[in-house]
Amino acid sequence: MNIVELLESTASRLPNKPALHFRGSSINYRDLLDSVYSHAAGLKEHGVKNGTKVALMMTNRPEYIITYFAVLANGGTVVPINPTFKEKETSYIINNSESELLVMEELTRPVIENAKSEFKYIREIFYYGTEENLPFMEWHGLSSKSKISHAVPLPSDSVAQIIYTSGTTGHPKGAMITHDNLNWMSIAAAVTNQLSSKDRVLCVLPLFHAYAKLQGFLSPISHGAAIYLEERFHPVDTLEKLANEKITVFLGVPTMYALFLRNPKINEHDFSHLRIAGCGGASLPAEILQKANQSLGVDIGEGYGLTESTVMLMTTPRDLPKKIKSVGMPLPGVELKIVDPEGMETAPHQVGEIIFRGPNMMKGYYKKPDETENTIKDGWLYTGDLAYYDEEGYHFIVDRKKDMIIRGGFNIYPRELEEVLYEHPDILECSVIGRPDEIFGEKTVAYINKKTPNLTEEEVKAYCAGKLAEYKVPDFVCFIEEIPKSGTGKILKTVLKERDRKTIQ
Ligand code: ATP
Repeated sequence: MNIVELLESTASRLPNKPALHFRGSSINYRDLLDSVYSHAAGLKEHGVKNGTKVALMMTNRPEYIITYFAVLANGGTVVPINPTFKEKETSYIINNSESELLVMEELTRPVIENAKSEFKYIREIFYYGTEENLPFMEWHGLSSKSKISHAVPLPSDSVAQIIYTSGTTGHPKGAMITHDNLNWMSIAAAVTNQLSSKDRVLCVLPLFHAYAKLQGFLSPISHGAAIYLEERFHPVDTLEKLANEKITVFLGVPTMYALFLRNPKINEHDFSHLRIAGCGGASLPAEILQKANQSLGVDIGEGYGLTESTVMLMTTPRDLPKKIKSVGMPLPGVELKIVDPEGMETAPHQVGEIIFRGPNMMKGYYKKPDETENTIKDGWLYTGDLAYYDEEGYHFIVDRKKDMIIRGGFNIYPRELEEVLYEHPDILECSVIGRPDEIFGEKTVAYINKKTPNLTEEEVKAYCAGKLAEYKVPDFVCFIEEIPKSGTGKILKTVLKERDRKTIQ
């Protein structure tokens, strides 16, 4: 089934229902589908057909969603690119994916102008204009006077999107996500969140990311919910939007919740309509979780997943109590195991690697057969994430395998240290990495963005010594103004490690 059929089905059931709100305007489901059909006709005139790769490099705006569906309606494959990427990163994805068309906006024009001589397969580039507040039907760009009449039927394993991993641990890899993956995941996420056409979903997550696509618009569209699309996250404006638009479903990442809490007005708003506050993409420190739960009046539901699992793999079902620090349990239909280095299943509380198989597993990495073979073995996808489960089947993410620090033979999970650091009142953000050491193999470095200038290295170490075993106390503490992050707010440990290597040279 072509994923566009989800939209077609909702548009025929609920044609007049508002689908998308943006900058004070809105569009209903019938008109949204109409716009998709006219853009699809436009793309078809420019040669988009089964298998054509179309790169999409835009910020959050309705044209993103319309173009996304329009490409898929023709059987094409969407290649989302982070609009903040610079020339090198952009060329890499465009060439690696063999994208033939690029759809972008004015904002990204300077980068594209500089990079386009490097593009190997791009035939045409389309820009959306910058006009503010254009009514929905008057957007210009790729729309055509004609319209297609329905989305092309596709084999279930057709690739809908090649979505590049954030590259927090290395070079981005293009995960091939099929129409079936998206269909299954959209419905699974809707069932998990008990979505209905009464829901009002706030989407501020960047649309180029899998999390925003699935939870921000595909899943809401499957059930006819209204999507409130925001261009970007802002700790004050987003909170106001949550309250003023009576939002029922909000999807965020840990940094967003941390920044909400810094807004002194958080306790003045009425969030009584909010029934789901989701968090994913990275671990949510317990300290932030508890405070945000209190201020928003709702239990934040932490989910775990990765690009390769379409998006979600685990969360706590709504009929079970949430446990602090737990990401819950596998979604129904997903088989998930925790295994030791020999591939044997672990006992409760024993740390091992998460592996899974199921309807949300990617098809493979685009043009990377070796990487695919290293990741999918005997039909199981090895996530590279370490976790354990308890007697009740709740799972707890420990850390990424690659981030684990081995100091003098002892395993240290940076996340454990970070959790402790986050509890310190003078610490805003932190990230712990390993630094090569001749004697210990590795030593620990805590990078800290502090709230008050007075905090010292000695104080941090003494504080940790009161809460952790001696070998886990950071060997070095470095204060920095800003912790490097990806477009989705994820801390980029690779960048931090590179910086660290340079400072010690
Ligand atoms: P790359 O694979 O290039 O390093 P990436 O892993 O950051 O990039 P994503 O697919 O965006 O790419 O992120 C998935 C990863 O995010 C998971 O493998 C896991 O390490 C982490 N993650 C996601 N959700 C959670 C969570 N709730 N708690 C802890 N970690 C999480």
